[in-house]
Order: sequence, then C-alpha cells, then structure tokens
Amino acid sequence: MEKTALVTGASRGIGKAIALRLAKDGYNVAVNYNKNDSLALQTVNEIKNLGVEAEAFKADTSNIDEVKNMFHNVQSTFGRLDVLVNNAGVVDDAYLLMVRQDSLERSLDINIKGYINCAQQAALKMISRKSGKIINVSSVSSVLAVEGQSVYSATKGAINSLTATLAKELASRGIQVNAVAPGFIGTDMLKSIPKDLAEKYVDAIPMKKFGTAEDVANVVSQLCSDDFSYMTGQVIVLDGGLSL
Ligand code: NAP
Repeated sequence: MEKTALVTGASRGIGKAIALRLAKDGYNVAVNYNKNDSLALQTVNEIKNLGVEAEAFKADTSNIDEVKNMFHNVQSTFGRLDVLVNNAGVVDDAYLLMVRQDSLERSLDINIKGYINCAQQAALKMISRKSGKIINVSSVSSVLAVEGQSVYSATKGAINSLTATLAKELASRGIQVNAVAPGFIGTDMLKSIPKDLAEKYVDAIPMKKFGTAEDVANVVSQLCSDDFSYMTGQVIVLDGGLSL
C-alpha cells in the first residue's frame, strides 16, 4: 500500500512546499489548513498533477475535537498514516511590554498545543503499526535570541523540547521524531517584517540571502527517508549560517 503524509498548514508557504516535495517522493498527501479553502484546493490539485492522491482537511490544529476528526478522516481516506509534519504556526512579533493577551494565547495555542494535539493523534495511529515519522517545524528563533520574538521563540523552544521528549517516549514503538529549525524563509510570514528590518536580517546572514520554502522541504524529505532511519530527537538548523 502507498504511504501517506499529513502536513499541517499546507495551504501555502513552507507547508505547501513540504506537501509537494513529499508528493514527488511518492507519498499520498493530506493537506491540512485552517482558513484558506481556495489555496488548500490549489495545493491539492498541484499534488494530484504529480500522480499521487491528495485531499484537503480543514481543521484548526489548536482545537482537539477538529484534530481528532481530521485524523479519523485521513485514516478513512488513505487507510494509513506514515508521516506527520507539524508545520502550522503563527508569528506575531512584539516587544515584551507590547505583548497582547489574545496574541499570546493564539501563539501558545497554535504553535505548542497544535503540535501536541497532532503528535498525539498521529502516535495513536502509528503505534499500532510500530512505524512512523513525526517532523516538527521549529525555528532558528528557538536557539537564537531575536528582539521582539520572546513569545514566538518560547513556543519554538518548546517544540525543540517536545521533539526530544517524544523521540524518547516513542522510539520503542518504531516512531522517529525530529525537527527542522529554519532561519529566514521567503514566505507570507516573512512579508510581515518591515523592509528595512528585512534588509538588516539579510545582512546578518553569512550566506547573504533568505532561504526558500523548498530548502526546508528538501530537509524534511531527507528526514522522512530511510537514509535517516537511525536519527531521532534532533533539531536540524537550516539558516544560511545566521545562528553561527
Ligand atoms: P505562512 O506562510 O504564514 O503559512 C501558515 C500556514 O499555517 C497556512 O497554511 C495556514 O493556513 C496554516 N495555519 C495557521 N494557523 C493554523 C491553524 N490554527 N490550524 C491549521 N493551519 C493553520 O507560514 P510559513 O512561513 O510557511 O511558516 C510555516 C512554519 O514554519 C511555521 O511553524 C513557522 O513558525 C515556521 N518558520 C517559518 C519561517 C519563515 O521565515 N517563514 C522561519 C522559521 C520557521 P490558512 O491560511 O488556511 O489559515
């Protein structure tokens, strides 16, 4: 039977690039999204054009009922789950004294609770087959202090800890858990940064350019491959040298 990957937040940006790359690797792909129906359907069509199956699953990853429902539907549609890529995330930069409660709660809910909800439901499916891979999309901000990103970096630091703990808990069940921590990647998320600040960031990157969503997708593809079958609990930093 063909393998299935579920990618959260795959309607655009890094998640979409990961979904397309895993499709090229031969996976059937479940495309999760929250709001953007038309972009999610566009991703699904692009994946189908690559000759594998794809379907869109609308669910807010921070809502456990919606997540349970999504995993149930993915199982009914594809019959199995081999890979979960926890990618759906938000950024809302603010200096500490400017952090609003609603923004704080949204970031904690989506960036931490959402990853745990999906990892839990994926593990339930993978444990019975004693096989599976969970890839968490973290951020270089988890290891590099960036002013104005206290909340975002705290959520991504939590993802690195979650990756290590889940790797240890699930290793005996045949499930690997790893993370990729991108630096600045040219997506909608980056467009929210003012132009002068973006130029300052490029200047700070030894490779003098932002990464692409495809750069991240290539690493995820490798982490899902049999070549990396003995690696678990690791966070791969992909940042053009920014954090060095
Ligand atoms: P993006 O372009 O803003 O896309 C975010 C995606 O997440 C969209 O598909 C969105 O779907 C989905 N999403 C948001 N909230 C959701 C929710 N509650 N439930 C389900 N889906 C939800 O972001 P990106 O730049 O591709 O970032 C993707 C991941 O990479 C994030 O975890 C981010 O922290 C991480 N990252 C990004 C960068 C960067 O420079 N871009 C760097 C390091 C790490 P809808 O549009 O349908 O709501």
